[in-house]
Amino acid sequence: MDKRILRERMRQKKRQLFIRKMMRLGFCVVAVVLVLVFLVRGVFMPIAGKIGKGSSSKTVEVQAQAQESGPQEALRQPIRSQNDSGKAGVHTVGWQEDENGKWYQNADGTYYANGMKEIDGSTYYFDENGYMQTGWVTIDGQDYKFDDNGVWEPDARRPMVALTFDDGPGEYTDELLDCLEKYDAKATFFMLGQCIEEYPEIPKRMKELGCELGNHSYSHPELTSLSYDEISEQYEKTNDLLEKYAGSPATVGRTPYGAQDETVCEATGLPCFMWSLDTQDWAKMDADADYDAVIGHVSDGEIVLMHDIHQPSVEAALRIIPDLIDQGYKLVTVSELAEAKGITLEVGKSYSDFWDSTVEQLKAEEDTDTDSDNLDSDSGLSDEGDSSDGDDESSDTADSSESDDYDSSSLSDEDTDSTE
Ligand code: ZN
Repeated sequence: MDKRILRERMRQKKRQLFIRKMMRLGFCVVAVVLVLVFLVRGVFMPIAGKIGKGSSSKTVEVQAQAQESGPQEALRQPIRSQNDSGKAGVHTVGWQEDENGKWYQNADGTYYANGMKEIDGSTYYFDENGYMQTGWVTIDGQDYKFDDNGVWEPDARRPMVALTFDDGPGEYTDELLDCLEKYDAKATFFMLGQCIEEYPEIPKRMKELGCELGNHSYSHPELTSLSYDEISEQYEKTNDLLEKYAGSPATVGRTPYGAQDETVCEATGLPCFMWSLDTQDWAKMDADADYDAVIGHVSDGEIVLMHDIHQPSVEAALRIIPDLIDQGYKLVTVSELAEAKGITLEVGKSYSDFWDSTVEQLKAEEDTDTDSDNLDSDSGLSDEGDSSDGDDESSDTADSSESDDYDSSSLSDEDTDSTE
């Protein structure tokens, strides 16, 4: 009898223990869930909200993981917590605005973030914090234009400019690279071998920042008076130095003073680049004048000539770079510019701009694949740019770039500059 009672009690005790254990487990699970909810809504969300645009909080990282390639549809995010003073008390559905910008509240208490969303027939883009974007936005390497009201303009094409800097590297180049890095802008540097020897660390940094390594000969001689082999040697020597210090040779070339013909271009072993806008910075030595020569005078496809060995030029560039970006321009390397326009660069061929009219001509040449004289086709291109672009300043310099600069007194001036 006693044993049976005892066994019965034991069984009851065991059941009680099991129930208590399950209850404790259930309580723990509920507690963990509550803590998680508290962390996400109470801590992460207000931080993301307060930091505002451009933040990289943990919430953003979580959201970013969900992002796929291309402009995906915006995700619905839970509404910001009551701790976020800017959003507290907002219960109306639709567009909202706070100190960080405009955002959109849905009826289910969520807001759009991290993608495109069609609202009332127009498409908008919301950043990781749910704020509507305007202007040019780069999403997965592609540029999208949103007007002042945030409405996507699918047909807008981002204008591009290639800033090029000759005769360096020099003592001011690093400061210029700092600026390019800050604004995620790219430029092309046509360097002299003798200067690379003086500043051997700089080409590597250029490459790391996505800038293009250009070859401007070793010692800046007038190439038209040199033999084919002497020209080749000038370019090989500089390429060897770039290979040694930056890990790869130049991908593009420019001849000193723009003094070139078909044979010279061929001897460089590279696609040769002239320019369409000559700032004449080496002659003016005036940052304001350099700035004025560029701002308001560039158009899509422009190749701008400057010299990073001069302090006023770099000073001007520090202002030109953010201002061109503000105007909607994307600052790219000359090769990126060619690629964006669908042009395959050829060794020994000369390029001075990638305006629409020029690109048309270059594509026609690619199609016919004639062995026509490079110089003839170049002058034809510049004329074409004149008539259609209507950009007097840049077209004029484009015309003069090959002949005038080379023949005129500017030759000796630049010579003294570059040997400094
Ligand atoms: Zn030069």
